Amino acid sequence: ENILIIGNGGRDYSLFSSFAKLPEVKTVYCAAGKRKWEHAKYKECPFSKVTDIAKFAKENNVQLVIAGPELPIAQGIHAECQKYNIPVLAPSLECASLESSKIICKEVIQAAGIKTAASTIVKWNDLKTQLLNYLKREDTTQFKLPCVLKYDGLAAGKGVFVLFNKEDVHNALISIEQNLPEWEKLSAQVKTPTYSKQINAPCFLIEETLIGEEISAIALCNGDSFRLLPMARDYKRRNNSQTGSNTGGMGTVSPVLLNEELLDQIKNTFAKTLKELSKRKTPYKGFLFAGFMVDSENKAWLLEYNCRLGDPETQVLLPGLQRDFYIEVLRTAKNLPFLSPEKLGGEFNHDKLKRIFVVAASPEYPEKSAPRRELIYKNEFKNNCEFIPTAIEPDNFTTGGRAFGLLACGENFEIARNKIYTQLKNYTLKNLDGSSCAPHYRTDIGLEFSENELN
Ligand code: ATP
Repeated sequence: ENILIIGNGGRDYSLFSSFAKLPEVKTVYCAAGKRKWEHAKYKECPFSKVTDIAKFAKENNVQLVIAGPELPIAQGIHAECQKYNIPVLAPSLECASLESSKIICKEVIQAAGIKTAASTIVKWNDLKTQLLNYLKREDTTQFKLPCVLKYDGLAAGKGVFVLFNKEDVHNALISIEQNLPEWEKLSAQVKTPTYSKQINAPCFLIEETLIGEEISAIALCNGDSFRLLPMARDYKRRNNSQTGSNTGGMGTVSPVLLNEELLDQIKNTFAKTLKELSKRKTPYKGFLFAGFMVDSENKAWLLEYNCRLGDPETQVLLPGLQRDFYIEVLRTAKNLPFLSPEKLGGEFNHDKLKRIFVVAASPEYPEKSAPRRELIYKNEFKNNCEFIPTAIEPDNFTTGGRAFGLLACGENFEIARNKIYTQLKNYTLKNLDGSSCAPHYRTDIGLEFSENELN
């Protein structure tokens, strides 16, 4: 079989390398741009527009297209592939609104009767007046802290602001003014229905602030049925002990074991959402990523949905999955029901090994863009990690923030951690002037889990 993967991040590399391992897969075409993704089965798909990618898939006898990131999904890769009868794993445009419009998402979540933070919708012009008034006079009659501001459309993870004090309000105002034109450009590129488009003005949600621990869950959904992937923890902040700026993710661990009561709440959330979408005649087919906040009473509140696999969660999830996962992926893409339908989300089989993925970034990440540097590997130790070349170009140079990552597994988290942290010391980034620097990475990924193993 021939497969085509869209996307050029670490998640998309993991999809590529996992599918390339299947004996029945002959060629994996990647619409990834210039990347050092080496494998005998790798072939480049040189297009980035969804219309061109679908046409390329038809011409190259592709039997499965999988979209990694949100943009091709929100641009309608599902419908484009369906035009040519090519099986595709990406939700339809209507379902993709769960991610491309936070306001539409909220409406669906509330209609499905799911626990979520209370919110109000506000147009940007009105919100700006409220923020300015607050800053000028600390007018708390209209605008109350703490609260969370969320841009309605796609914002590449930069459109959410958790506000606790006046300085946060000030910074959010500056950041929104700076970024809004770019977000609006991105929204104009998407075909998905969004709330802001419907009323022709950029909109925001003002949301109640929730306190607790975050958990992400990913399910493969097929109409009313779904199966859960193992749970993972994502480390979002740049530095150890959850300090520093928010990033796209500095590492992940899996499997994370949850208590049964919490797992049931998560499963119920997916089940209710799928029922609501089927009721609306827009059944969900594809990966669905749910972000939860778990409060001190073990209650899970749904923060958001993403209509795709998470990055970097995918890097620790896919390698342990077994044949049943690939079979159900293909059946979903072909519009066939699951082989073992589960309305309450049974988990996919998993090899039970503990996996850790650690991101190595440019020292500037995420504040500034990185200059072009060569990745140098001092081959002194045996490497028993998997190298994930997130943003490494074919000539071994990178301009990426999150440049690469290492993945390791073991019977426990301590073994996996040791493998990774021994190896990471062997990488340096060489500047064009000959000087070099060490990549930046967190040293505490999975630490709390390996400490628990010792207790
Ligand atoms: P990403 O693309 O990074 O997943 P996003 O921009 O789509 O993010 P959310 O996941 O909704 O947006 O929010 C980003 C982060 O903001 C969450 O991971 C959480 O830490 C925080 N957050 C969102 N909503 C709330 C809330 N109601 N209360 C407290 N924190 C929140």
